[in-house]
Amino acid sequence: MRKLPVFFVLDCSESMVGDELSRMERGLGLLVQDLRTDPHALETVHVSVIAFAGLAKTIAPMTDLPAFYPPRLPLGGGTSLGRALELLMSEIDNKVVQTRPDKKGDWKPVVYLFTDGSPTDDYRSAVNKWLKSYSNKATMIVVALGQNAESPVLHEISDNVLIFKGDSEVDFKSFIDWVTASIVARSVSVGHGSEPADVSPQNSPVLSLAKPSDINTTDDHCITFLGRCNNTRKPYIIKYLKRPKNINLDMLKLDVGTYHFAGCYAIPDDYHAWTDETIAMPKVNTTMLNGAAGCPHCGGVTALALCGCEQIICYDGSSESVTCPWCETRVGFRPSGAGGMDITRGQG
Ligand SMILES: [Zn+2]
Ligand SMILES: [Zn+2]
Repeated sequence: MRKLPVFFVLDCSESMVGDELSRMERGLGLLVQDLRTDPHALETVHVSVIAFAGLAKTIAPMTDLPAFYPPRLPLGGGTSLGRALELLMSEIDNKVVQTRPDKKGDWKPVVYLFTDGSPTDDYRSAVNKWLKSYSNKATMIVVALGQNAESPVLHEISDNVLIFKGDSEVDFKSFIDWVTASIVARSVSVGHGSEPADVSPQNSPVLSLAKPSDINTTDDHCITFLGRCNNTRKPYIIKYLKRPKNINLDMLKLDVGTYHFAGCYAIPDDYHAWTDETIAMPKVNTTMLNGAAGCPHCGGVTALALCGCEQIICYDGSSESVTCPWCETRVGFRPSGAGGMDITRGQG
């Protein structure tokens, strides 16, 4: 039986923390559930999932639909697109049966790459290798999750760069339905013995085809900070989003930061294992930030206290001093004052 290999290459960088990541996790489960109800897909589709953040790993090896179990998605700092492509290419080499003169191999694999930000690693050699030896062997569909997720390199690796424009549960469900339908369409055409036609987002209300000229490379839509609870020592991520452009702050004369608080999330302990810790990130002044939260682990009043070691910790406001879970020294706190304080941002 010739299989139709489908790879999901999923960006699990820390800017995905919260709704985006849990939607993607549920979306994957839903998608596989729906595919199983289609006789063509059930017969041919095999699914594999690669996650990437600071590094890339196969979190679900290539299996047929009945045996596929949706994996838990990790979270880490960094968007290592180069590493994800390298891994994808080696998976294609190892898991996809190539056609030989004496034997038909698998159908042309389909890759769905979902990402929400620009790459942070050196992706050049991986992209060149992809273009030279793999771009004709697989169909790559890139979905930029949000208008700001686009970057020029995405257009290099695929002629099909789509932008997911939605932001609600319903929008995301509609997006997953489109992915499911496009996989089913492929499995139907290979069921009839023909190579599948290319996808088009025409029928989807939440997707649009991106042109390279649409890209705004300067837009920095999301800022994240990594902190640690000083009581439980567990990590969390604080997320800020850039204000929508349609709010005119000058007119409102409001004294607010450029970025508004989007959420503070407890994150899994394997965060560090998925993070590329060699990358040094720039600092951000707290006067640019509007809104804050308490610690998601211990409920301490602020999750954005800064130790002398420049790491972020939580603070409950009652004790004079606490032990920093990063550097193990006792630290006391005072308010940051009108000038704000400079804190190191996460990798997004
Ligand atoms: Zn805490
Ligand atoms: Zn410290």
